[in-house]
Amino acid sequence: MNEPILPGSAVGVLGSGQLGRMFAIAARRMGYRVHTFSPDSDTPTGQVSDVEITAPYEDLDAIRKFARQVRVVTFEFENVPSAAAAAAAEIAPVRPAGSVLHVAQDRIREKTFLAGAGLPVTPFRTVESAADLTRASTELSGPAVLKSAASGYDGKGQVRVMSPDQAAEAWASIGYAPAVYEKFIVFEREVSVVAARGVDGGIADYGVVENRHVNHILDISICPANVAPAVAARAREIAHAVLETLDVVGVMCVEFFVEPGGGLYINELAPRPHNSGHFTFDASVTSQFEQQLRAVCGLPLGSTELLRPAAMANLLGDLWTRGEPDWAAALAHPDVKLHLYGKLDPRKGRKMGHMTALAPDAGRALATVLQARTALLAH
Ligand code: AMP
Repeated sequence: MNEPILPGSAVGVLGSGQLGRMFAIAARRMGYRVHTFSPDSDTPTGQVSDVEITAPYEDLDAIRKFARQVRVVTFEFENVPSAAAAAAAEIAPVRPAGSVLHVAQDRIREKTFLAGAGLPVTPFRTVESAADLTRASTELSGPAVLKSAASGYDGKGQVRVMSPDQAAEAWASIGYAPAVYEKFIVFEREVSVVAARGVDGGIADYGVVENRHVNHILDISICPANVAPAVAARAREIAHAVLETLDVVGVMCVEFFVEPGGGLYINELAPRPHNSGHFTFDASVTSQFEQQLRAVCGLPLGSTELLRPAAMANLLGDLWTRGEPDWAAALAHPDVKLHLYGKLDPRKGRKMGHMTALAPDAGRALATVLQARTALLAH
């Protein structure tokens, strides 16, 4: 079972967004066949895959049929139902395992797991009743964030609570769904560590990346992050502990808040390649997508060495408000790489693509990628 899955084999991806697309590009470059499964058609992943299957995740027979065509199944977003991962696992290895998905797709389970493992997670309380809410807002006095346990990403299902008397209204606004009540952290910056763990338990990480969000959506990532070496070392050590404790096979991203004194809190886990690792496609010896392929196929992990400092800027649908962005103007910057995900409908807030700039230092990479993004709207 631990024989490596070699080039020429078919690999399966549950989900069909841009993460699957970049995974598929990396896999096809290495001579693998890619099958993708999601409820949609003509998807970012499907457009670059050998086979695109369109069926609901609840159709477990379709999932099993899909799994029979491939040597290993992975996923590109964590909200695939556990039953789908379990049905696939009857037929082919699912990496990372459904148990990892189960923990990461629910904030209560995720934070409870982290706290139980002695890892530094943002102080939180579970809210499943009005009594829980009262207790949480009393025990964690001061500003907080209430986050629904399920389906939370890019700030969805989140409400700021400035003082305990706003807690009830906040919970009503997320439909009284099970939630975590989390202390509001006054952070100096947000960082992440993208790391991969192989079938043999070996771990490789991409160092510490600085992330800036706008409207709760990742806007910019910069590598290397401007943090003290001791903070970087600690973040990497914590990330390794997370992958080991969860027995991850594949890529995982661990997102942190960094306090002004250098204290670290884990905010969130993503059990897959992550937006904050997109720069690795252009700036690292092995991209996070190739690394995911290597890990799930049981191959040795590749070098995570950073070739040049890099900055990545997301391109949201908002950039299309006045028509097609001016790609040629952005590409007039020769150190800028453009990635577009093949999405047909540029809705506001939708991730349509990203650009990465490489430079001799992170500050210049950031300046260049921001200039290139501004140039998109110059016409
Ligand atoms: P999340 O979806 O949990 O990653 O939250 C999205 C963004 O909201 C984070 O990247 C932060 O910028 C902000 N945020 C979330 N939780 C907190 C918190 N406890 N304290 C401060 N800011 C937060």
